Amino acid sequence: MKISNVEAYWLRCPIPKEKQHASDYGLLTDFDMTLVVVTLENGLQGFGEAKAAVGSSGVCASIVSCVENELKPALIGKDASQINKLWEHVYNGTRDHYALKRGRKFPILGRRGLTISALSGIDTALWDLKGKMLEVPVVALLGGACRDQMPAYASGGWADVDRIGEQLQGYVAKGFTGVKMRVGVMDETVEKSVARVKAAREALGNDIKLMADAHGTYSVPEARQFCRGVEDCNLYWFEEPLSPDNKQGTAEVRAATSIPIAAGESEYTSFDVRDLIAVRAIDVVQPDAAIIGGISEAVRVSHLASVYQLELAPHCWGSAFSFMAGVNVAFASQAATIIEFSLGGNPMMYELVQEKIEAKEGMIAAPQRPGLGLTLNWDFVKEYAQKIS
Ligand SMILES: [Mg+2]
Repeated sequence: MKISNVEAYWLRCPIPKEKQHASDYGLLTDFDMTLVVVTLENGLQGFGEAKAAVGSSGVCASIVSCVENELKPALIGKDASQINKLWEHVYNGTRDHYALKRGRKFPILGRRGLTISALSGIDTALWDLKGKMLEVPVVALLGGACRDQMPAYASGGWADVDRIGEQLQGYVAKGFTGVKMRVGVMDETVEKSVARVKAAREALGNDIKLMADAHGTYSVPEARQFCRGVEDCNLYWFEEPLSPDNKQGTAEVRAATSIPIAAGESEYTSFDVRDLIAVRAIDVVQPDAAIIGGISEAVRVSHLASVYQLELAPHCWGSAFSFMAGVNVAFASQAATIIEFSLGGNPMMYELVQEKIEAKEGMIAAPQRPGLGLTLNWDFVKEYAQKIS
């Protein structure tokens, strides 16, 4: 079935004041996303997300332009079912015939960054389309689910030292058995982060999984100091201690602590994840399907996780489309045992689509509906689509 149109929309929706939070990314007052829509000649549409930022706020005009002006012309008239070939076509550009003939990549300059984000949205939309065409969920196309359900962990935890225990206990009261809190430069000092984590663990007791995320904001000494301070807090993982550009430093942090180190949400392609693994920087791999190169590349990362006996925990902070992309990849992988579930103000997760996304008693069920299993709310798109001049 041939592709007849490829569109992208930058959606920006205000977050109600009572649901706003401040993190290492500052106070987030809007939620942004790039929605990618691939349409077939018969009118069937697939949807994906392409990210300009790992947080929920970002300017998406460049991705929209990349999708519509650079990638769309190369995709019109192509067979949408040949996802592997189309991925190579975008990644290798005019040299894709060499890539396919010689069996190795001949990438264009945009082999990282927003071009790969744009490719991510298109790739995810193609998987959504293929599932809809065959009337099976994406996970079935990936070989089927390894388990019937999976625990979700509540992703939030911005409160100060006096209220963090109560905030995280609120998540546990909803049925979650794992919770993630934010640390890093938002706390000003490492001591304050350590005190917040200690307060959290004391309030939660020892049976709840607790993770801490520094959003890549520490220096190597700060990260080591943090790890020393919370070494007895039984953290399930410590996420993005350093900038993704400091892979060797992340390995130094990992070597200095018994706390498992997680990273990967800011990486583009499995080549970046390979480099993290090669320097022994991580225990938990967190590809984001809207950044890494779509469902196709997230699957390749899941295979790396499996081969190197690392845990796979896709980054699922985003719209319903990147969330379900991560969920489908996670269920298809033996290496994934837990799913991120956003507890922040997130209209793209709950209002962009007609289905109600929920973790019942803290559990996510294996996907059953065709494609990504989502129905786009076009009225929402019309209301929040930004004009790009
Ligand atoms: Mg994170």
